[in-house]
Amino acid sequence: MSKFLASKFDVLEAYTPGEQPQDKKYIKLNTNESPFPPSPAVISAVNSAEVGDLRLYSDPVCRETRTAIAEVFGVGMENVIVTNGSDEALNFLFMAMCPKGAAFADITYGFYKVFGQLHGLDCEVIPLREDFSIDPRDYSGTDKTVFIANPNAPTGLVLTVEQIKGILSENPDRLVVIDEAYVDFGGESVVPLVKKYKNLVAVGTFSKSRSLAGARLGFAVADAEIIADLETIRYSTNPYNVNRLTLLAGAAAIRDTAYFDKCRSAIIEAREYTKAELRKRGFTVTDSKANFLFAKANGISGKDYYLGLKERGVLVRYFGSPRISDYVRITVGTMEDMMTLLSETDKILQGV
Ligand code: PMP
Repeated sequence: MSKFLASKFDVLEAYTPGEQPQDKKYIKLNTNESPFPPSPAVISAVNSAEVGDLRLYSDPVCRETRTAIAEVFGVGMENVIVTNGSDEALNFLFMAMCPKGAAFADITYGFYKVFGQLHGLDCEVIPLREDFSIDPRDYSGTDKTVFIANPNAPTGLVLTVEQIKGILSENPDRLVVIDEAYVDFGGESVVPLVKKYKNLVAVGTFSKSRSLAGARLGFAVADAEIIADLETIRYSTNPYNVNRLTLLAGAAAIRDTAYFDKCRSAIIEAREYTKAELRKRGFTVTDSKANFLFAKANGISGKDYYLGLKERGVLVRYFGSPRISDYVRITVGTMEDMMTLLSETDKILQGV
């Protein structure tokens, strides 16, 4: 640490992203990316003429992309903000929309804690139930801005829209942020609720179900007044937060609903197959509705399972944190990837 760092950041524990190995080729099941390439429409949208236009700044209004997102979700452009990955939308929300602090689960997306620290917020950590479920009643006592990943990460467990409505209506003066990074794989989106609930923000991403993790595109949908506030923050940090190529890629990706449906159905099928196969092998596996499985091996520690797979060229995510140190999170890849995962798992279990 240099002597120039402001002392308020002395204790900041930065987010640890999953490994992105550049040396060896792994079957990469560790960062919940899509195993499928972006839609062919994305590839033709990002053509060489557009690359030439990189000399120009991007549209600060992001009109084309916001309009495309708004159309797909049946809301107005004034209800949508686009960001550099959904991490940036979450950062803005923690930065500006948590006047009394933030409340979130003990086991959830690790960035919530980091953003809370980064912005010096009073954070209330609400433990998941023993079975890793969220009990909406546990949120009734807080007036802090609530952040819930639905499906939750890394458990993959979901709340129903009815349960979320309960959290929203109990205190209309408290903002509730639903992080829907994984909703397209089996959860129920709350986006249609933004018209009725003025205290709701739905955050989404193009990184998972739309195969654009490397392009960095996220969005939030909410009442126009909330979006205007977030736009103030965006214009006060970086009005060109989303680059030209990504804006084009995003608009093309969201309009290709047929490709989107094909990819997510394939993931759901591979997830359910792998879930059942792991259970047959004695694993405890949560009923994930996301593009990953959260699994505990029988007779081998989470760390050894993770290391064993890594040695065999399959990379999964091991967190090693309290309550979940026996578990690994396995991104759902293609069916072929999952077959390899299962056969390597069998070898590990048999000690060969
Ligand atoms: N929310 C959750 C729950 C996530 O797991 C992730 C991915 N790490 C994100 C948000 C951020 O995704 P991105 O910034 O790629 O949109």
